[in-house]
Amino acid sequence: MSIQKITVIGGGTMGNGIAHVAAQSGFDVVLVDVNDAALARAIGTITKNLDRMVAKEKISEADKNATLGRIATTTDLAGGSKDSDLVIEAASENFDIKKQIFATLNAAVKDGAILASNTSSISITELAAGTKNAENFIGMHFFNPVPVMTLCEIIRGLATSDATYATIKEMAEKMGKVPVEVQDYPGFISNRILMPMINEAIYCVMEGIASVEDIDTVMKLGMAHPMGPLTLADFIGLDVCLSIMEVLHNGLGDSKYRPCPLLRKMVAAGHLGRKSGKGFYSY
Ligand code: NAD
Repeated sequence: MSIQKITVIGGGTMGNGIAHVAAQSGFDVVLVDVNDAALARAIGTITKNLDRMVAKEKISEADKNATLGRIATTTDLAGGSKDSDLVIEAASENFDIKKQIFATLNAAVKDGAILASNTSSISITELAAGTKNAENFIGMHFFNPVPVMTLCEIIRGLATSDATYATIKEMAEKMGKVPVEVQDYPGFISNRILMPMINEAIYCVMEGIASVEDIDTVMKLGMAHPMGPLTLADFIGLDVCLSIMEVLHNGLGDSKYRPCPLLRKMVAAGHLGRKSGKGFYSY
């Protein structure tokens, strides 16, 4: 199947990036969010990011205008999805919100349309089970910031067909991403490996093994990571880290995934990292 028109649901951090990259890659995009203010913010962010690319001479002013010209916006989920070949859901990470969105899409999209979710931690198989054609359901897990990060984990639910996988792999490549095929298990590959590493770094803080700065220095200078795990945890948000550790712990049932008590304590205190002004570092 060839994809021409796509709908992106949610214009937040991830949704505006996905809409930006899809439009810049030549696809017609409809961006859907719950109100006009959210849509205006999303278009403002996309415009600012395109302006930065023009200033760096990565794209021309004409490319920028053509990209923006390919993005339509609406608050009408059903109307904005009915002509699309692919719908990528990037709404808030909440099972009930996503379930409701896919129930609406079920009735709205044309036959053969592919439904994808950018969820970081919800089961693709479970989301697919609520739709009329689970064969056409798949995970497309992009990374923040989407215009910069080239990885796309493609998550195959239990029922995802080979044809759906092949179409989405090609779509990701057309968006300039490097697709990786992953089966649907908690945390996929990225968070299955990243989050236990961050959790272990937090245990090292809790046990007084080294200072926050020194733990980050070990991983930066010793392992050539661009950012230490505690800096990264602050950037991701400690509440998000805790919730993904809970998903790994509940979903895999192995005590090695238990969230560090210090992580729980910091979240309880409202020390969520960069977004709250305080985490392992102060901002
Ligand atoms: P965000 O909070 O920045 O944006 C979510 C957007 O969804 C908001 O604009 C909100 O108004 C909108 N929304 C909520 N309910 C909606 C509905 N019913 N219909 C349409 N829009 C709705 O969140 P985000 O960080 O962009 O995350 C979105 C998804 O991407 C989540 O599933 C998250 O797990 C996943 N994800 C996030 C990251 C990241 O680094 N932030 C990385 C990979 C995947």
